[in-house]
Amino acid sequence: MEMILHRIRIGTGGLANIPKFLGTRDNIIPAREILLGHRQVEGRILVAGGGEVGIETAMYLADLERGEITVVEMAHKMAEKTDQTRYIPMRRFLLDHEVKLMNDTIVMEVTDTEMVVDAEGVTKRLPYDAIVVAMGYHSNNALADELSVLGDKLAVIGDARQCQNAMEAASEGFEAGYNA
Ligand SMILES: Cc1cc2nc3c(=O)[nH]c(=O)nc-3n(C[C@H](O)[C@H](O)[C@H](O)COP(=O)(O)OP(=O)(O)OC[C@H]3O[C@@H](n4cnc5c(N)ncnc54)[C@H](O)[C@@H]3O)c2cc1C
Repeated sequence: MEMILHRIRIGTGGLANIPKFLGTRDNIIPAREILLGHRQVEGRILVAGGGEVGIETAMYLADLERGEITVVEMAHKMAEKTDQTRYIPMRRFLLDHEVKLMNDTIVMEVTDTEMVVDAEGVTKRLPYDAIVVAMGYHSNNALADELSVLGDKLAVIGDARQCQNAMEAASEGFEAGYNA
């Protein structure tokens, strides 16, 4: 049977940014894997990236008492895009659970045992058992690229177009379906 395609909408989502300098060790794990319960970590845990996902993952791990948690963030402020009304209680929770927050700190290199950071101009070596990566997301557009010959019939929606949030993705999905 021949299938005629009039419209294709691609919603293949986003993928975690894992900078090359982090390497490909088994104990360097995207935050999503932790939050979905696919992987577990314990001991000295470094969360690379203190945006909303990094902070939420640190809270999750702290609540489970998984070990000594440190969040490393290059910006001056953690969870910069989060409203203060949400961030203040999040920060309180982390401090109450003795999570260490290192802002103004850039990850430079990772060895088998340590993360080397530049903390406000001072090089520090942070030993770890696991690194949780929360350094943002990029669009997963492999399928869209493969199908690009379809031209106007093809539209990319949700995080596959641009990583934003669930509300934006759902709204784009609705629009795409409604106007197809
Ligand atoms: C850790 C984390 C926490 C987040 N927390 C929040 C939050 O609190 N609030 C909020 O609003 N947003 C949050 N977001 C963002 C939100 O999850 C996304 O914006 C939203 O899920 C995007 O929806 P989507 O449908 O575009 O992509 P996704 O939900 O990623 O769905 C894409 C789907 O496509 C599938 N897929 C990929 N390739 C193929 C293929 N070739 N064939 C078939 N299927 C394929 C994938 O397996 C996946 O199931 C979070 C994101 C992450 C990573």
